[in-house]
Amino acid sequence: MDDGQFFYHPLENIEDTEDFYAAINREHLTKALSDERPYTYWTIELYDQKNGIRGGGGLGILAADTRRVAEEMGVPLTLITPFYPYEPHQKLENGVVVDEHIPVDYHKFGFRFIDTVNVRCDGNLCKLDVIEKKFDKTRILAITEPNFGELYSGMSGSDHRLYQEVSLGFGGYAALKLLGLKPAIMQLNEVATFFAALARLDELASNGMDFYEAVVYTRKHTLYTNHTLVQAAEAEFKKSQFERFVFPNLKSPAVKKWLMDKFVNERIKLSSVTIEIAELRSGVSKLHARVANYRDIAGNKVKFKAITNGIDMETWVVPEVLEYYRRAQIIDKFDLPTEDYIEKLASIGAGKIRELKHTGREILNRALIGRPDQNGKELVFSSDDFIFDFKRRFVDYKRPELPFSDPARLRKILESCNGHYILTGRVHTGDSIMAGKLRRVLDIVKNDEYLKDHVHYIADYDESLAYGLSAGSNVAINVPIVGLEACGTSWMKDVANLNILISTHDGGVADASPESYLNVHGNSEDEEIDELYKRMEEAAEIYQNDFDLEFVLQKQLAAYLPVISGSRMLKDYLDFLFKA
Ligand SMILES: *Cc1c(COP(=O)(O)O)cnc(C)c1O
Repeated sequence: MDDGQFFYHPLENIEDTEDFYAAINREHLTKALSDERPYTYWTIELYDQKNGIRGGGGLGILAADTRRVAEEMGVPLTLITPFYPYEPHQKLENGVVVDEHIPVDYHKFGFRFIDTVNVRCDGNLCKLDVIEKKFDKTRILAITEPNFGELYSGMSGSDHRLYQEVSLGFGGYAALKLLGLKPAIMQLNEVATFFAALARLDELASNGMDFYEAVVYTRKHTLYTNHTLVQAAEAEFKKSQFERFVFPNLKSPAVKKWLMDKFVNERIKLSSVTIEIAELRSGVSKLHARVANYRDIAGNKVKFKAITNGIDMETWVVPEVLEYYRRAQIIDKFDLPTEDYIEKLASIGAGKIRELKHTGREILNRALIGRPDQNGKELVFSSDDFIFDFKRRFVDYKRPELPFSDPARLRKILESCNGHYILTGRVHTGDSIMAGKLRRVLDIVKNDEYLKDHVHYIADYDESLAYGLSAGSNVAINVPIVGLEACGTSWMKDVANLNILISTHDGGVADASPESYLNVHGNSEDEEIDELYKRMEEAAEIYQNDFDLEFVLQKQLAAYLPVISGSRMLKDYLDFLFKA
């Protein structure tokens, strides 16, 4: 991020960690967590461009936000992740999305080289650089080497993925030891990080601890956070791959035997062993934790504790808006909603909302500099323009094409409200179906005299665009097929920045009732499309009326501020991990 849009002010009033722990009634955490015994957070993906690491989507954003919230709250946390030497970008060429691979140099982002560690892979000793970026209370500990590749390069289930995952797990664990750190807890952000817990189990079991005790100990200190709904969809690895990449890194014969027994028909799903190695398991929204369909090796259904994702308000909320929430005592110094925040919300009037959105619009205009739309035109919006946006990865279940089902109706809506529709999102490399859908949307837009100038596709969706749009749009559209979104966090950025949310009832949105926002529901996709257009018409009308605008935005905030707060998320994790 070169435009200084990402503000980072640690809270001034926090004396130290104990202040936060006292506020969440967990004073004993001072003993459980320390700089030498940190909370460790393992993730194959981190989305934190300010620190040189670009992710693919929500999983990485969540990881970055978790560390930032911990930093602000003074919670010692070490995040362990790969540093990918190349990062993926996309541009639009003649209506076609083209991938670009840009090299990144960690030295430019304040990382310091520590030493190397070795992992065994496919008959070789692979040397990995350990690099560190230290903050006040937290650090990013990364492992990297020149041929590490990009995030999600290769097919899932491929040797290269296994190499990356094994490197993060065994290499990252060795890196922790290099720094003299002992994990108080290991949070595994999805199953690609399983090998970190395996490395710990192996260390304990090969250093003289009874194998059974080592399993119990590792299980009690490991949290598996699941973001995926269906176990069946997960890739498998073959035993022959484990023989080349995993077993050579294990010292304990008992651990090897334990792992060997987990194969079914010579194949293994990482979720099945992650469930075995982590006694603590969480899902990322209430709905997701309820419906995630996972079974352990014995065939029993796995229970997930619902800990809904949150966002780091310091990062994602326009500073003027955040300051307003604090001054009006809607949120406290920890970014947690105050006890009477719902009453306090009544003070947000339409005049204030419009003034704050005006500030947000300027942020959006800055974010759009140098990022032309599909017509090659750089966009500048005035406060009178009314902006709908859709900003998320282009994956099938998120249905980016839905608002283009009836172009004439979309055109009518935009015409009636001086409206613009901004669309942005990455197409996953090699996803020809979604690339095709995007091409069709762009064709529809190109062939309509009005839509062509009022619908804008911006390529290379990233954090600064996500921030700019949530700051400066008026209406956010989120229409995943119900049941397929684990949580989603874009909509949180939108609600916190005073946008009207139009959404299906899914993911974290479903933590509150469908009356909390402009809900799209239907028994068929056609019904949903009709509802979506109706909600868009309503949203435009709501904006014309001060009373309606206050009512709708206050209602959204009343329902969702406690969900959105990243400090609430961290508090929920600490409560779950360190039960008093
Ligand atoms: C917030 C954010 C996401 C999260 O997207 P969801 O679709 O809501 O999960 C993904 N990518 C970027 C760049 C973001 O800023």
